[in-house]
Amino acid sequence: MIRITEILDKLYEYYPDVDDDIIDRAYIFSARVHAGQLRLSGEPYLAHPLEVANILTDMKLDPVSIAAGLLHDVVEDTHSTADEIYNIFGKDVTHIVSGVTKISSLPFSSDQHRQAENTRKMILAMADDIRVILVKLADRLHNIQTLHYHKSAEKRKRIAQETLDIYAAIAARLGIYWMKRELEENAFYYAYPEEYERIENFVKKEQGEREKYVTTVRNLIEETLSHSGISCEVLGRYKHYYSIYQKMQSQGLEFEEVYDIIAFRIIVETVSECYGALGTIHSKWKPIPKKFKDYIAVPKPNMYQSLHTTVIGPYGERMEIQIRTREMDLVNNYGIAAHWSYKEGKTQDVNTEKAFAWIQNLVENQKSFRDPEEFLENVRIDLYPDEVFVFTPTGDVKSLPKGATPIDFAFLIHTEVGNKCTGARVNGRLVPLAYQLKSGDIVEIITTRGSQPSKDWINLAKTVKAKSRIRQHIRKEEKERSLSLGREMCEKAFRKYKLNFNALVNTDKMEKTAEEFGFKTVEDLIANVGTGKTTPLQVIRNFVPDSQEKKETSLIEKVLSRQEDQKRRGKEDGVVVQGMEDILIKFGNCCHPVPGDSITGYITQGQGVTIHRSSCINALKMDPDRRIDVEWKYNDNEKFPASLSVAGYDQVGLLADISTAISKANANINEVHLEHRDDNVVLVHFTIVVQNVDHLDQVMAGLRKVPIISDVKRT
Ligand code: MN
Repeated sequence: MIRITEILDKLYEYYPDVDDDIIDRAYIFSARVHAGQLRLSGEPYLAHPLEVANILTDMKLDPVSIAAGLLHDVVEDTHSTADEIYNIFGKDVTHIVSGVTKISSLPFSSDQHRQAENTRKMILAMADDIRVILVKLADRLHNIQTLHYHKSAEKRKRIAQETLDIYAAIAARLGIYWMKRELEENAFYYAYPEEYERIENFVKKEQGEREKYVTTVRNLIEETLSHSGISCEVLGRYKHYYSIYQKMQSQGLEFEEVYDIIAFRIIVETVSECYGALGTIHSKWKPIPKKFKDYIAVPKPNMYQSLHTTVIGPYGERMEIQIRTREMDLVNNYGIAAHWSYKEGKTQDVNTEKAFAWIQNLVENQKSFRDPEEFLENVRIDLYPDEVFVFTPTGDVKSLPKGATPIDFAFLIHTEVGNKCTGARVNGRLVPLAYQLKSGDIVEIITTRGSQPSKDWINLAKTVKAKSRIRQHIRKEEKERSLSLGREMCEKAFRKYKLNFNALVNTDKMEKTAEEFGFKTVEDLIANVGTGKTTPLQVIRNFVPDSQEKKETSLIEKVLSRQEDQKRRGKEDGVVVQGMEDILIKFGNCCHPVPGDSITGYITQGQGVTIHRSSCINALKMDPDRRIDVEWKYNDNEKFPASLSVAGYDQVGLLADISTAISKANANINEVHLEHRDDNVVLVHFTIVVQNVDHLDQVMAGLRKVPIISDVKRT
């Protein structure tokens, strides 16, 4: 088992003045809480956090990361809590440990391979401090290095595959190539044991010969470049097994065909030497067209820089050559970690301090960066500021824009799930549909048969897909409503003219009529009647012979003029029916709504829409399916009838007092009738004409001031 002193010695090398107190305390704490626990290898559990801390010193990370590495499993595997860690080790360590714990306990589905990209993004999105990812990678590296202790081959394979799909790819994205290679080589062995063995056998068989070849070519390159005045270091290396395997897979090649399993890396001091070396190599050996890549001029997004070329080598074989400076080589190997780490062999000078603070700032304030340069840096660590990644109940990972709600999730799963959505559970708890999803949430949609999307959902939805599906559904519903209303109106109008609408609806003549009116289908025509834009009379005219029409027109018009009147009145009276224009409007005689009253519309048989006060007893009895949302839209010079009943003592002058009070309030009386009660009380029922509810209130207040009136009620 590695000792803490070895780890500290490595730390002192790159950070001589370090205050290692936090590491000491983390070590003691971890040893105490993991005491008695064993790894599958039989070693004390503590060996694992120590190895993880050791890997973190390989990455030259700061004391907080190393302390977090020592503590990374204590919340998940011991009785310690995040609060306890916070009290002893403070905010940063707690943040990293909690982040690693959260990622480790994500409920990924077994079918990881298929959705690897989203899973990687989810993990990156959940880590708002890049050190969370670095500790998690170190954790995974040690676990994969000790994977052979797992008894179950199936589990080994699953962990290995996950390592290839998720963690190696994350390491690559962060530019930590040595970590990527380590993860891949170890995981490849368990994920594809047969393929690994085959490649290993091939490589071994040719090893002696290859080694001779590498030495020869290396010397040849060094010699050639020194003739051009460039001193360099040449590394010849076998490509690692997994990249050989990938090449064989992706290009359908046999091992023998993967010639360039040896790649040479030329390391020089300056950028101009890189291009100089390239020129020399290309003039000595013939380059293969299209194989040249200049990642110095155009670095990869993870800041990888190098020249890549493939040439026909001294023995007619293909050689892959990379040319870069020493500094580039360091960054290429360590990626983001190189920026995060302390400079080798130096005390923490001002520049390091600055760089360190800058990255910390970048990670912590990633949302507030607007400057393009800073934005580029932000992309480099790729924390996906605009996306959230959530789970389905089966562990699939779905990506949504930030601010998305369960409604977006429901429509992403399936339009029908969205349409029938009535609620949602997030991480097992009921949430409102306005809840904003967070990366790592497990989302379950509750559906109810026969339920419908509501119009307010358009404001709750964030995705174009959900919004358009909701609109589509509402439009469809409105069309169906106009259609059934139009059909009822036509039936009624046709019947009055002794025609059977239902018998005529499927005839060529009806189709022609629809065409004449400029509609594609008969349905469109009927729906248009339902919205009141076309009258049934206009349709009927096409079914009546000319001569008869003349004779009958007046009759038909008499029958239908009432509806026409009402239509006009409806327009003037200005009530709008949700989603429909110019619909026939009628006001309920039972409750006489006036502007300002809360109102509801009801679709009536062939009569358009009747408006009632929401509290009207008749309205409450009606079929809720016929209910439709309406609202007032009127102008000030319109007047509306309202009914009142006034109770007063039966004495001379009562009616005079009442009418004076009403006209004082600038209202007119339309109708009056009296009802005598036994106990000397008269009930006076009125219909008066007012502008709106406020006006009506004024009238009623005036009436209440009359001494002989005991009660004023709206009826
Ligand atoms: Mn661990």
